[in-house]
Amino acid sequence: MSFADLVVADATKIVNGEHLLMGGVPSSWGKQPVCAAPFYKRRYTWDGDLVMGCTIGCDFCYYRWGNNTADTIGKGKEGLRQIATPQQVVQFLEQSRLFKAERDIVMLCARSDGSMQVGEITEFLRIFPHQNLVFILHRVPFGKRQIENWGDDRRAIFCTTLTPVSEEFQGSPIKPPEQMVGLRRLLEAGIPAKRISVMLGPMNSNNVAEGVKLIEELAGIGIEFLAYRGCSIGNFGVASEDDKLRKVGFLDGKQDETSKPKGHQSYRMKNWLAPGVEASVLHTASECGIRVHRHTGTLYRDEFGMPIPYNRNNRSRSSELGPWRKVSPRRIDEYARSLGYNPLSVRETEEGYLVALPEGEVATEDGAMTVGCEFETSVIFNNHRIAPTLGDLAFYAKNHLFWPLPEGWETVR
Ligand code: SF4
Repeated sequence: MSFADLVVADATKIVNGEHLLMGGVPSSWGKQPVCAAPFYKRRYTWDGDLVMGCTIGCDFCYYRWGNNTADTIGKGKEGLRQIATPQQVVQFLEQSRLFKAERDIVMLCARSDGSMQVGEITEFLRIFPHQNLVFILHRVPFGKRQIENWGDDRRAIFCTTLTPVSEEFQGSPIKPPEQMVGLRRLLEAGIPAKRISVMLGPMNSNNVAEGVKLIEELAGIGIEFLAYRGCSIGNFGVASEDDKLRKVGFLDGKQDETSKPKGHQSYRMKNWLAPGVEASVLHTASECGIRVHRHTGTLYRDEFGMPIPYNRNNRSRSSELGPWRKVSPRRIDEYARSLGYNPLSVRETEEGYLVALPEGEVATEDGAMTVGCEFETSVIFNNHRIAPTLGDLAFYAKNHLFWPLPEGWETVR
């Protein structure tokens, strides 16, 4: 069976509020249409798009597993949907209370590829009045047009994902040798390596040998750092075609195919990487002197100097990120109140500062990471959810945490 014949497990179910913001309602919804939001989550970065959808159509694309995004991936230009104009995207950021101008990373093309919207991104950069870094995800090799339009803007970070290809793992239709040409082009045009962010993955036992060769090549041309990824499968209403995923080598038979953080509804497997695969990456990286990151938190902090939260999924991440800062609980209380929460108390614990919210009030991961980032510390909550429910969006709307929400969002139940 091909992806065109995907079995939609539940064609109309909207799993939670993040799912709605990610893709809007599915085409088969049958009631009032509701569009996707320009930005659908705030974790270490603001993840969003001007245009969603991607004609490249990698077999392992996460958005294949969303019943409201599957028909935007690998469906040609008909699959592309404009979510918002550059002006609307700027307004969304400026009006969303969780967004901090001059600080937060804006990640464009989270559900798409930059190559299909060069004009829109250029216009966004032209009118966005703040100094926030803007990461542009772009799998297609970078060319003259991208360099001409974004090269002189020091906020623009050129990001690309290289998926190692082997006989056993067919990878993406966009192959690393062509992408290496694009990366060389950036460096030759004078784009500093600190403005080039490479992601290597997904990786498993089928393509790690080629991944290691790519690390050597990247270091050889002057790339200074990269992040590496395991394999993920999404879970937003579309069943994964495991037979196909095995055939193309994405599932290697040795992964824990159901491993994900507790409470995560949006993943069936999240960023799973075998210890042996990771050891090969680390060994090669240290041999050729390239800095590598398993966690995007260290990538943004150490390579881009960004403040980051030290809490993740309502726990301290000090084992991966190092110790969290000491801060006055009173300041956390005041800041949480400025976002619309009503803390009963804030006290220091081993996991970070525990904010007790009244019954019925819940901090989502978007809010929790914003508070943690503000103080570069770990902030956890007695009531916490990794993603907003549809009900939590009412709190987002009331307090303009993300604003405006897509028209008609409140009709979705
Ligand atoms: S290039 Fe990225 S967005 Fe496009 S299909 Fe592949 S994984 Fe998905």
